[in-house]
Amino acid sequence: MNPGEHELQYPYAELPAIGTWLTLRPGVHWVRMPLPFALDHINLWVLDDEIDGRSGYTLIDCGITSEATQSAWEQLFDGVFAGKPLLRVICTHFHPDHFGLAHWLTVGGARRRWTVPLWMTAAEYAFGRYLSAGGGDNISGETAARHFARNGMSNEAALLQVRVRGSSYYPGFVPAVPPHFHRIYEADEFGIGPSHARRVFRVMVGYGHAPEHASLYCADDRLLVAGDMVLPRISTNVSVFDLEPDADPLPRYLRSLDRLLMLPANTLVLPSHGKPFIGLHQRIGQQHRHHAARLDEVLEACATPQSAASVVPVLFKRALDAHQMTFALGEALAHLHALWYDGKVERRDDSGVYRFSAAS
Ligand SMILES: [Zn+2]
Repeated sequence: MNPGEHELQYPYAELPAIGTWLTLRPGVHWVRMPLPFALDHINLWVLDDEIDGRSGYTLIDCGITSEATQSAWEQLFDGVFAGKPLLRVICTHFHPDHFGLAHWLTVGGARRRWTVPLWMTAAEYAFGRYLSAGGGDNISGETAARHFARNGMSNEAALLQVRVRGSSYYPGFVPAVPPHFHRIYEADEFGIGPSHARRVFRVMVGYGHAPEHASLYCADDRLLVAGDMVLPRISTNVSVFDLEPDADPLPRYLRSLDRLLMLPANTLVLPSHGKPFIGLHQRIGQQHRHHAARLDEVLEACATPQSAASVVPVLFKRALDAHQMTFALGEALAHLHALWYDGKVERRDDSGVYRFSAAS
């Protein structure tokens, strides 16, 4: 958890109950949905909107496919939606908690109330569609297990969990993807809201957490729908995964954060996890210090050769379940790769396992 949390301000004391929303600004509503992980909730945003003369709502992010989330949505439709339709769904990125119910919400699974467009960046849509379909031969549990073994995971039981998880995890939470999408691009601007109170949002693409993550910024209202790029309590996961085994996502993530420093200091940040907060610049500073300290620790550990697996306990002092271990190993590798690309450590193939040691 973030030790610098006291530097942030949380303007809203309450949390929205499941099945209803909390209105933060006129026409901006906060919804929370349950998640079956250690991270037990996701925030979604419902905005008053008007498209082609019809008034209704635009939704930003969807929740995973689960009975609990679907029934919470039904409660919202029957309750606070007050008979108005959903008009559009925007997804910040392809991760299951954000994208899982996009098909159900847009194509008509939700009691076939409506068919609405999905707005998303191209890389996020393509990743989600690919993984939902099982990812062909590339994204099987087997390739994930090979990636983890190559990076030092040797425990057979753990590797078995990776195999099982790798083949079923994503399609389990994202069983279907809308067949079409409306592509959004970096710096696109579009309006959301009724004609008398329309807000213009600008797309700000960020890297390091997902391939083309879209945050949305409204300058008039100083409102940043941050997705997972900036979170108040936990640090955003930045991982190297088996699909891109030589990736260097950490510097890209930090550079993406620095672009958000252009936004005013009193911007209200709407994060996907945790509570809405003010303190964007402080939080970005904290993330820089957090990763700089982690890089120092990893570099120090590399005085003797380390695999990503042997670095995990350096970065994560607590016990991890299988789900957390997947991210922890990816995160350890992201730190090792940042040092490797920076020339501070060298990588050697030691009988099929990558080991990193301080550059001589
Ligand atoms: Zn995410």
